[in-house]
Amino acid sequence: MKTTPDNSGDVRLAGISKTYGAFTAVHPLDLTVPQGSFFALLGASGCGKTTTLRMIAGLEEPSSGTVCLGDQDVTHLPPYKRPVNTVFQSYALFPHLDIFENVAFGLRRRGLKSVKKQVEEMLELVQLGEQARKKPHQLSGGQQQRVAVARALINHPKVLLLDEPLGALDLKLRRQMQLELKRIQTEVGITFVHVTHDQEEAMTMADTVAVMNAGRVEQLGSPADLYENPQSTFVANFLGTSNLIEAEVDTKNGDDIVLRAGDGKLVLPQARCSAATTAGGKVLVGIRPEKISLTHADDAGDVPEGRNRLTGRIADASFIGVSTQYVIDSPVCDELAVYVQNVERDGRLVPGAEVVLHWSPAHTFGLDATQDIDAGTEEEVAA
Ligand code: ATP
Repeated sequence: MKTTPDNSGDVRLAGISKTYGAFTAVHPLDLTVPQGSFFALLGASGCGKTTTLRMIAGLEEPSSGTVCLGDQDVTHLPPYKRPVNTVFQSYALFPHLDIFENVAFGLRRRGLKSVKKQVEEMLELVQLGEQARKKPHQLSGGQQQRVAVARALINHPKVLLLDEPLGALDLKLRRQMQLELKRIQTEVGITFVHVTHDQEEAMTMADTVAVMNAGRVEQLGSPADLYENPQSTFVANFLGTSNLIEAEVDTKNGDDIVLRAGDGKLVLPQARCSAATTAGGKVLVGIRPEKISLTHADDAGDVPEGRNRLTGRIADASFIGVSTQYVIDSPVCDELAVYVQNVERDGRLVPGAEVVLHWSPAHTFGLDATQDIDAGTEEEVAA
């Protein structure tokens, strides 16, 4: 017998937008989050991610478009009639109730008498079985957040919405809770839509990340895909660090584009370039800091053939244990970042040293040079 796959936990947004007067917080957005996936909306403050989440929850009415959960159009349903629950940054636990009763709350409100088994199972899931009779103020921030997750999950929502749920926690606890939430999601298998401004958090937890900027999704993909193949300067800078070097299209050579940067040539696979590449046109050549190797200028002859290479001088070197982070000034670009694993350190690689930077053309990506080269950098986002 053929069974139809369960898609009741799909989230499908079609053309949803939100305007406040003349201001557009979310431009018309089409997005499908498949049932059972861990999806992150990632972006800087004010980019529209919370508004998008609130439209899914029913806490905000879209100015246009529809919200479907599975095959059901819920656009005009109030929040409590939608098969979703939201976990907020402020846990909003009931201070006078113990942990057991906080988790049982949703069931009791629905008139269920025997809640013990379900509550205990839920407390086991979030590893708080021992804490059932404590009050919220007797728990740590991370434990309180897990109570909030248990309280939401006990209602068996099809979709769990998480709005910066780890925002109030210190860094170490945040990292622990990221893994914990990922484990819980895998165990319960329901759709999680998670809003965060922390790129590391989104990449650690989510199967798919939508990077939002100024009310639009800039790019959507798996964390590795977004990191390795950014399509815009915003994504290249917002997820990790990118070196972006202005270059000019010289020729095409089979599947590669040959670019001129200063006196040198750089090779870029056509498939990794999201910009138009007419001869003489400009392209931003991108390369991640950890993909670059450094060779002292005295050993320049040892650099293997076929590598992209630039010359430069070390401006700064910071030893951070696992790696050394160099800042290098090159004739084609100032302040190139290079991260070198501390395996066998070359003692000559100190500030002032002349070096060759080299990397595989396969790690190079190409972006449209008409974009703001600083979009998505920490300075730009903070401004
Ligand atoms: P944050 O991480 O700071 O919460 P965000 O990406 O979640 O940011 P939103 O809360 O979705 O951003 O807000 C998007 C934009 O819409 C912001 O510029 C915000 O000021 C604006 N906005 C949100 N709610 C309203 C409102 N009720 N009236 C007017 N403008 C609003």
